[in-house]
Amino acid sequence: MLVLESSPVLSLGLLTALAAFVSPEVSRQAREKPVIAVAPVGRTPREAVEQLLPVLRETFHCDIVAAAGVFLPTSSFNASRAQYLSSAILPVLAAVKRPEWERLLGVADVDLYVPDLNFVFGEADARRGVAVFSLDRLRDADERLAARRAATEAIHELGHTYGLGHCSRSNCVMWFSNTLVETDRKGVRFCPEHERELARNRRPPPEN
Ligand SMILES: [Zn+2]
Ligand SMILES: [Zn+2]
Repeated sequence: MLVLESSPVLSLGLLTALAAFVSPEVSRQAREKPVIAVAPVGRTPREAVEQLLPVLRETFHCDIVAAAGVFLPTSSFNASRAQYLSSAILPVLAAVKRPEWERLLGVADVDLYVPDLNFVFGEADARRGVAVFSLDRLRDADERLAARRAATEAIHELGHTYGLGHCSRSNCVMWFSNTLVETDRKGVRFCPEHERELARNRRPPPEN
């Protein structure tokens, strides 16, 4: 950016040359190695995002990167409920999602809701490949327990972005949790059927 301001002609030429050189490589990598990005939403500390990366890497077997923070849209706040509408955060994530990211997961730290439910741990949009979940109801004095809960809900919402529905097995991460007891019970693993479905749904489309 600084270079562009001081010498536009040279820099544009250089950028074009770089783009021509870099683009095929970048798109090849994007095809071969999927990337899931994770972004703090609102005031979520970056450490909370960093903490999730290893377990997501282990679960989804791909590059997991920490993305820049995303603002919490004021329009998502419902003053009478003192909660944030998760569905209103998803479009913000969709707007900043880069094409090379297979998925973008937002990590919020405020109480989320959707109409007709008292609260939600998170919400996903499979069509746009984005999801959000909140740490707000997952907190515990036991930091390891809180971290495991965060991983569980992160993996659950990402599972939805790959088209997975809820599971009837209470120890599968795709079980629908109404309570923290259920979140703690189900843990971070997919059942064998959901593991297979995830692999099927993540297979890249054949090239032309
Ligand atoms: Zn769910
Ligand atoms: Zn399952």
